[in-house]
Amino acid sequence: MDQVSESVANLVDHFTKLPGIGKKSAERLAYHILRISEPEANALADAILSVKQNVAYCKTCYNLTEGEQCGICRDTKRDRSRILVVEQPRDLMALETAGSYGGLYHVLLGRLAPLEGIGPEQLTIESLCQRVKDGEVEEIIMGTNPTLEGDGTALYLSNILADLSVNVTRLARGITSGSVLEHANREMLSDAIAGRQPF
Ligand SMILES: [Zn+2]
Repeated sequence: MDQVSESVANLVDHFTKLPGIGKKSAERLAYHILRISEPEANALADAILSVKQNVAYCKTCYNLTEGEQCGICRDTKRDRSRILVVEQPRDLMALETAGSYGGLYHVLLGRLAPLEGIGPEQLTIESLCQRVKDGEVEEIIMGTNPTLEGDGTALYLSNILADLSVNVTRLARGITSGSVLEHANREMLSDAIAGRQPF
């Protein structure tokens, strides 16, 4: 790409910063953008801006929302005695798609990763504890990913929650160790919710 215009090189640079996008893919995406119509390109740019301007974290569960509170927290039909703890909003979306869980969620916005300098204070643990202390919650279900760091995070949380009067369970291990919630299929997720066990 030595002879390309500065604009194209700049676009390739930005694509390279996206997760999972190497130099080759970035170049392919940039050339794709060059080929699409101006309205299409504008729509893409608008979609990116709109996400940045309108989407925030739910002030209760840290799911993505366009208001103060997400639709799940606002839904009065959901079972408020259970909170399923996940790492990322995309894990929550995967579980919602499975459709067999009617409780609330709490999104940690990451997992403990000491080697990367991610400690408890970088996650939303404090506000999870506050939700438990507020009294309505009877069960916390650990839905962190079955990876070394996900398990470590669940263990850390269960220790903290042991001091509060709440049952701690975790999703059944139907999901192969090391795989990630967001890639699990609907049946696996439903089984994992139905077969949850004491932590
Ligand atoms: Zn919420």
